[in-house]
Amino acid sequence: MESEKWVIKNGTIVNPEYGEIKADIKIENGIVTAIGRGLCEEGCKVYDAADKYLFPGFIDTHVHLGNFNSFEDDCRSETISAAAGGVTTVCQMAKASKLTKFRPPQTSYHEVLDEITDIIDNNSSVDIALHLNLSSYEQIDEIASYAELGHTSFKFFMSYVGMEGAIKMGAIGVRDGIIYAALNKVSEVPGTLAIVHCENDDLIEFFQRSMTEKDKENISFSDFAKSRPSIAEAENIHRLLYYAAETGATVYVPHVSSIKAINVVKEARKNSGVKVFVETCPQYLVLTHEEANKMPGAIAKVTPTMRNRETLDYLWECIKDGTINTIGTDHCSLGLDKKKSVWYSPGGFPGIETIAPLIITEARKRGISLQRVSQILSYNAAKIFGMLPRKGTLRIGADADIAILDLNKEVTIKAENLHSSSTFTPYEGFKTKAYVEATFLRGDLIWRDGDLLKAKTGKTVLRKPLE
Ligand SMILES: [Zn+2]
Repeated sequence: MESEKWVIKNGTIVNPEYGEIKADIKIENGIVTAIGRGLCEEGCKVYDAADKYLFPGFIDTHVHLGNFNSFEDDCRSETISAAAGGVTTVCQMAKASKLTKFRPPQTSYHEVLDEITDIIDNNSSVDIALHLNLSSYEQIDEIASYAELGHTSFKFFMSYVGMEGAIKMGAIGVRDGIIYAALNKVSEVPGTLAIVHCENDDLIEFFQRSMTEKDKENISFSDFAKSRPSIAEAENIHRLLYYAAETGATVYVPHVSSIKAINVVKEARKNSGVKVFVETCPQYLVLTHEEANKMPGAIAKVTPTMRNRETLDYLWECIKDGTINTIGTDHCSLGLDKKKSVWYSPGGFPGIETIAPLIITEARKRGISLQRVSQILSYNAAKIFGMLPRKGTLRIGADADIAILDLNKEVTIKAENLHSSSTFTPYEGFKTKAYVEATFLRGDLIWRDGDLLKAKTGKTVLRKPLE
């Protein structure tokens, strides 16, 4: 099927490389073929984007599809939620286990990748890149062969070693030998990098030692935060970066939540020149543990947990000055019935649809430019994960992944209006001024004014190694 030709006119392009420009965009065969004024509209559909902003489609660097529902079901529902939020590429934390049939997590990805990509290509409404979760020496030995197939980023958990609940979710904690072996391998295979979840469980165990069963039953988010202090995150990052400096590996620290953790990164960048990228999440940028206390049940439970106002402001400063590279949501879809107890409920909540409206609204209040926003929500992720220039920017030859936003339209976030199969959001009642009016995926107008116009047009993104 030949794809439509479009001219999107009268809008302002937010280009992460050059800033804001008033220009029209022409799309042919799914890619951007011209940028300028007075483009020939013959044979083209026309989208009038007067007073609107055109961003490169947003990239959510961190989602968990298939944690609580089948991977297939999540691919279907959660990517519609992505399209509604202007997110055109999501990076999925892929697992060798927990697909249609059970396999041990250490299964070779060569046995499961076809199945994973088939499910994506037949169900997803936006594009999906895969971070492969590895947990064995055998899988690490295959990193070069995974990279050859276009999968260049690999996820590891320094936390959760031997923890049953996490293993059930497919998050297999590994000991330092595996981490070191992985970094060694990643440093040898050009363009690959290791994503490492950092929280020191032994330290957390110490901080939780004095808690009784009764304490756990009634724990508030503020006390929960105290029971998982930032030193646990910072220490693990410190160790990871020591290994990274030693091996020369490129590493990516997801969901960084604390001042201590950021300072470890800053110091390592300065002193050892280690190649480290940092991701934070919307929850650490707009929520605090005090606010989480006010929400019903355990809606806002996630690990690392929310910190205080001072930390939140500090993280924004780090976005402004470029210390933080990306924002990912850690999205997962689960029922509200699972979010009753701060202590016993699983962590995680949906975020894919609200990331751009929340971040853009808050960034503008803090005087951060739209150019910086499009770097942090698209460009940097595309660059780090080997998708540039196809994704993450708007230039001739790039995929026509475009989010068209109305920055004057105020919307109050309500779970009932969102499209995740989850029935709640921790951002209920938040007021945003960054309405996603339309989403183009590789030249197809897939979302407009609250309606999904084309479903299941998503594809697995195969990547070239990092330059
Ligand atoms: Zn995660």
